[in-house]
Amino acid sequence: MNDSSANARDERYSRQILFRGIGADGQRKLAAGRVAIVGCGATGSALAGLLARAGVGMLRIIDRDYVEPSNLQRQSLFDENDAAESLPKAIAAARKIAAFNSHIVVEPKVEDLVPANIEALLEGMSLILDGTDNFETRYLINDYAVDRSLPWIYSAAVGSYAVTLNILPGQTACLACIFPDSPRGLVETCETSGILNSVVNLVASIAATEALKFLVGDAPQLRRTLLSFDVWTNEHAEISAAKPRAGCRACGQRDFIHLAGEGRPHITLCGRNSVQIHERQRPIDFTEMDRRLQSHGVVRHNDFVLKFWHDPYEMTLFPDGRAIIKGTTDTAVARSLYARFVGS
Ligand SMILES: [Zn+2]
Repeated sequence: MNDSSANARDERYSRQILFRGIGADGQRKLAAGRVAIVGCGATGSALAGLLARAGVGMLRIIDRDYVEPSNLQRQSLFDENDAAESLPKAIAAARKIAAFNSHIVVEPKVEDLVPANIEALLEGMSLILDGTDNFETRYLINDYAVDRSLPWIYSAAVGSYAVTLNILPGQTACLACIFPDSPRGLVETCETSGILNSVVNLVASIAATEALKFLVGDAPQLRRTLLSFDVWTNEHAEISAAKPRAGCRACGQRDFIHLAGEGRPHITLCGRNSVQIHERQRPIDFTEMDRRLQSHGVVRHNDFVLKFWHDPYEMTLFPDGRAIIKGTTDTAVARSLYARFVGS
C-alpha cells in the first residue's frame, strides 16, 4: 500500500484505530480478514454492514433469496428500489456496501448453501458468520467448520428473542454439543412469530464484535458462552460453552451427517406461502424465457432474476434454474407449474 492510500485508510478508520482493542495493527489484520456471511436477511445485513464499515477486507455474501417489501422493516442493507426490482439480496447488499466502502472486496453469491457447493462457497475463508434462518443450514455449516477447524459464529433471532454462540472447533462447544437436535423454541420462524428489528441489530452487533476480536487475534476476549436475551421481557441468560461435550456427534465422533447428506430435497417449503425448487442443472436464458412466457402472464427480468405472474402464482426464476413459487404451499402444484413453464 502506498502512503496516500495508507493515509486515507487511517483517516477512514481513525476512530476505530484509536480504540485500544484494535489499534493500527488490528486495523491491518481486519483488512486481511476474509469472512463469509451465510444468509443476508436481517441478521446478515446487519453483520455485513458493520464488518464492511469496520474495514474487513473481504466479505463473501451468500444468499438464495430476493428482496421483498416485507424485508424493509429490518433488513438494513436494502431499499424500496431493491424490492421493486426483486434484486437478489446478495447483489443488493454488494451494491449498497460499495456505495459506502469501495475499498473492500465483496463477493455476492446468489446460491443456496448445500453439501454439494459448500466447499466452493466457503473455501479460503477465515471465519463464517450465520445469517441464516434455519437449523438445516446451521448444522451443515457446523459440520463443515468442525471438519476444517474453521471458527464460526451462530446467531439467531425471532420475535424479541435472540441467541448467539462462538464456535472455536477443538476448543469450545460446537452447535451440536449444545443442540444435538434442532431446539424446539427456535423452530418457529419470522414467518410465524414476527420479529423486531432491534433484536436483530443487537445480536448482530454482539456477533460482529466477536468477529472483530477473532480477526485481530484477541482470543482471550472471545466469549465462551451461549448468550441469549429477550429485549421485550428483559430476560437474559448465559450458559458455559467453554468445553466440547464428550460424545458429541460432530466434534467428538466426527460423524458429519449433514456434510455427507444429499442436501435438501428437490422441492421444499420455504415459508411465506411459497415453495422452492432447487434445480441446478438448468441454466436459463432469460431473454428467451421472457419471450416464451409472454402469452401466459406478466413477465419481466433483469440480469439476476426473472419474475413471472400467472394468477394466482408468482414465480421467481434464477439463472441456474432455481425457482421460488409464491402462492402455494403444495409442492405438487409448484412442481407442475415449473414443469409446464420452465421444463420438466
Ligand atoms: Zn460438538
